[in-house]
Amino acid sequence: MALRLYNTMSSQVEDFHPIRDNEVRMYACGPTVYDYGHIGNFRTFIAVDMLQRFLRQSGYKLRFVMNITDLDDKIIRNAARDGVSVQQYTAKYQKAFLEDSDMIGIEHPHLVRATEHIPQMADFVAKLVARNLAYRTDDGSYYFRIASFPPYGKLSKKDFSEMRDGSRVDVDEYDKDSARDFALWKAPKPGEASWDTSIGPGRPGWHLECSVMSMAELGETFDLHAGGEDLIFPHHENEIAQSESLTGKTFARFWFHVRFLLVEGEKMSKSLGNFYTLRDLVLKGHKPSSIRYLLTSVPYRTQLNFTFDGLKQAAVSVERLRNFRQRLSSGDFPSGANPEMQALGNETIDRMRAALEDDLNTAQAQGAIFEMVRKANSALDAGQVKKDDTRRLLAALEKFDEIFAVLKDDDGPKMKQVFDWAPTEGREKDISPELREAVQSGQLSDADIENKIAEMEAARRARNFKTSDALRAELAAAGVIIENTKEGVRYRRK
Ligand code: AMP
Ligand code: ZN
Repeated sequence: MALRLYNTMSSQVEDFHPIRDNEVRMYACGPTVYDYGHIGNFRTFIAVDMLQRFLRQSGYKLRFVMNITDLDDKIIRNAARDGVSVQQYTAKYQKAFLEDSDMIGIEHPHLVRATEHIPQMADFVAKLVARNLAYRTDDGSYYFRIASFPPYGKLSKKDFSEMRDGSRVDVDEYDKDSARDFALWKAPKPGEASWDTSIGPGRPGWHLECSVMSMAELGETFDLHAGGEDLIFPHHENEIAQSESLTGKTFARFWFHVRFLLVEGEKMSKSLGNFYTLRDLVLKGHKPSSIRYLLTSVPYRTQLNFTFDGLKQAAVSVERLRNFRQRLSSGDFPSGANPEMQALGNETIDRMRAALEDDLNTAQAQGAIFEMVRKANSALDAGQVKKDDTRRLLAALEKFDEIFAVLKDDDGPKMKQVFDWAPTEGREKDISPELREAVQSGQLSDADIENKIAEMEAARRARNFKTSDALRAELAAAGVIIENTKEGVRYRRK
């Protein structure tokens, strides 16, 4: 079997093979850095992260580029409003995006920025004009001539044949049925940032940015282009039009779009009061691992309805996996192997792979790992797990975590960062008692805890009960619960 992915261009699930043997070149539209990232954004970024992780696990070499949109209508407007430069305005949100990505377990792609590619963007426009694919208006703006690209609409499956009338649209985001010549380059407006270039002063339109940066990094044709489903039209349709009319080649071969996240059954919006940034949830005391787990629990093309109940269940699931791993790695097991457990580990690895190869069916992959945990826990209770089996089962967990990235117990330090950031934004009042408690109890890393337990055990063996009791109390104060089991001492976090 090989990876099969849904391609928005063909509206079908297709076998995925890169053009070059073993190397996948992919591009994802990144954040527009005018605010903190919300959980909808992170559903998309995490889905793309899972894809990159799975491609690597499958043995591909990856060239994965993500842009940071540090220049668009909203940014220009907000920077002008605040009387600061575009770079000054976006710096804070760029930093926050990188921190949030780390917090939620995203492996950083190679990041590129619009403001670093402006001369190339101007050159691109000049080439389009030279081929009569674009034109300049009296004010010094440039528009793409969509009538010059008959396949326009092929990605979004919209029929624009009736509508090519040379009318124009100059905003980056516009309504879904508008087939009008779109702005490639916008003439300067008073009080707004602009750049002097070979085609005159002004600034690039958003669509142009992604075409230029993706082709600069990955070549005229690359394997996969990703983003949220709202980008299909006009953003990606426009990228295709600009790029393919100029090169005469296919721009991106696969189009990977992530379904929009709903919150409590509704479209997320500030006016409905159901709008959450990642930091909002951490302030409420939710762990980054629970958030990541929930956002991966539904396949990327299926509607995911974010609820606080779901988030609590996700926390329980992660805890269950961590406890299971702890049980396997800390116990004393008889040497040898139980063929049933060996088979269970192997089958689980195969089932997870098959699920992810099937258009990244993350829900099925999670199902497979939980079935393993359930069966192996019964075998553990019955004393049927041998030393070699623990290695097999841990290997399956490891494979799972290469993609899902929730097992590492580093929520405490990550939450501490949000705790420390809150006062800098005047959000101290939003710190929940749960976050306060998690920060207090989450200061010990796995290694700290294991060291303390080892000390405690040594003290107990030396019959130094005062010390062992003190250590146990110290762990309890940090929210760590110690259990003595058949297989030795285990711990879990409250
Ligand atoms: P933006 O920062 O608005 O440019 O969006 C960054 C990414 O998040 C894009 O790929 C969007 O398509 C995606 N996105 C925005 N809102 C949502 C949502 N509610 N659910 C899923 N993805 C979203
Ligand atoms: Zn883009």
